[in-house]
Amino acid sequence: MLGLMQSQPLLISSLIEFAERHHGDAEVVSRRVEGDLHRYTYKDVAHRSRQVARALDGLKLAFSDRVATLAWNGYRHLELYYGVSGSGRVLHTINPRLHPDQIGWIANHAEDQVLCFDLSFLPLVQAVHSKCTTIKHYIALCDADKLPADSGIPGLQSYESWIGAQTSDYAWPTFDENTASSMCYTSGTTGHPKAALYSHRSTLLHAYAAALPDVMCLSARDSILPVVPMFHVNAWGIPYSAALTGAKLVFPGPAMDGKSIYELIEAEKVTYAAGVPTVWQMMLGHMKPAGLKFSTLRRTVIGGSACPPAMIHAFQEDYGVEVLHAWGMTELSPLGTLCTLKNKHDGLSADEKMKIRLKQGRAIFGVDMKIVDAAGKELSWDGKTFGDLHVKGPWVVQDYYKGEGGNPLVDGWFPTGDVATIDADGYMQITDRSKDVIKSGGEWISSIDIENIAVAHPAVAMAACIGIAHPKWDERPIIAVVKKPGMEVSRDELIAFYEGKTAKWQVPDDVVFIDAMPMGATGKMLKTRLREMLKDYRLPQV
Ligand code: AMP
Repeated sequence: MLGLMQSQPLLISSLIEFAERHHGDAEVVSRRVEGDLHRYTYKDVAHRSRQVARALDGLKLAFSDRVATLAWNGYRHLELYYGVSGSGRVLHTINPRLHPDQIGWIANHAEDQVLCFDLSFLPLVQAVHSKCTTIKHYIALCDADKLPADSGIPGLQSYESWIGAQTSDYAWPTFDENTASSMCYTSGTTGHPKAALYSHRSTLLHAYAAALPDVMCLSARDSILPVVPMFHVNAWGIPYSAALTGAKLVFPGPAMDGKSIYELIEAEKVTYAAGVPTVWQMMLGHMKPAGLKFSTLRRTVIGGSACPPAMIHAFQEDYGVEVLHAWGMTELSPLGTLCTLKNKHDGLSADEKMKIRLKQGRAIFGVDMKIVDAAGKELSWDGKTFGDLHVKGPWVVQDYYKGEGGNPLVDGWFPTGDVATIDADGYMQITDRSKDVIKSGGEWISSIDIENIAVAHPAVAMAACIGIAHPKWDERPIIAVVKKPGMEVSRDELIAFYEGKTAKWQVPDDVVFIDAMPMGATGKMLKTRLREMLKDYRLPQV
């Protein structure tokens, strides 16, 4: 017997329709490439997204055709999120930090038909457009009078004249909720990047789940600043969850430095922010010397790489901001776990609570997880045993776009490539990427633990721990360190700093000071590049 409830497909267009009808006057504020602040409402987003949909019809784009973006977080990007997916096309957000050759490769692989880009990326588009064989239309996200006269890009139009020629008289089409809605290529540290292809259904389920109290806890009373980019995994789904809750949205545009982010938080009464640790490090670095405080910020979700304890501590103790540590990945839309405490933790000491907060958190309903050994046997949830983290759920990839790389699943589970422990309460903690694990004398050393201790030192800006081959121990850890500007710390001082903070045999054998950390396109330390940089390095005592 079937249930007798209405059957309505879960479609992205319903989010913006809802926001227009129920939160039409809630604001969307954007720092633009031009430098000024643009301010309008969800009603305007809905209106202009429908113009986008009509403009795509005008280009004769077929259902499921791909529309690419190279854009910062901003209102026009948001309109494309809704106009492209809502009209049945697929939004392909391209990470502008990728190498131009890689951008050309993925645009061709995705068979993008249209590319919409912020003017700050004009030089990039000029460098790659001749390699993009499928793109027929180039749209600059600007006013008509800002369109460069001699860009060299055939048929370049301004976004405002492109959508301005359309009315907003458009009814969102209804179609199968399993239809593809957007795509994002993984950073691809080896081989070619592979794309996760999200559906309307997966995106809506993720949007519901992300808004839950024990997840991001978003509401119509929030003013949300997603610093996490809309060009990588849909800004952790915030553009969707914000419309679902009616929260105010504040977009930083290209101004990601500490001062600009701090000033935007204060000016727009931001209550909730989301970003990777490096962004917050820049902001705290700006605030501390100037003695600045927040007047409205209450919570910040930090993920993408491990959040150092020193950062959780600083946010909490110095600024009264709760840090929500999150874990996820492109293949998970991206949220998998988020760290919030349970009732039973109320009576714990601050130190004990901090130990839990450092973990990547509990599974969100919709994501199931397990840890397994090399033979695929499930390991126990004791908080100590670590193994390969596998996940499954309705917003986890089943296959990569065009079947690239073959079937990624093992017995229906997606192997994340992360190594983790899970404790008896279900809190998961990442110890490493599987390829970064350090094996010393038959024991494993978590590079994240070693890095967290180093960044707690006041003179250390960034630290990456890697294993170096050792004749007796297999591998020994060393730590590559970038010092904070104007601060000093010696090798011996830093080694001494580990005393009492970790087991003796886990203390790095050496410290290598480097001028800058090699970073990947998604803001993560690139250990592959670091290993190349240190290929001639030899351990001191060997
Ligand atoms: P991406 O697909 O580019 O978003 O990268 C996903 C990877 O980032 C994960 O598989 C993890 O290795 C890493 N990652 C994400 N969040 C965290 C976190 N909170 N702690 C440690 N690693 C993380």
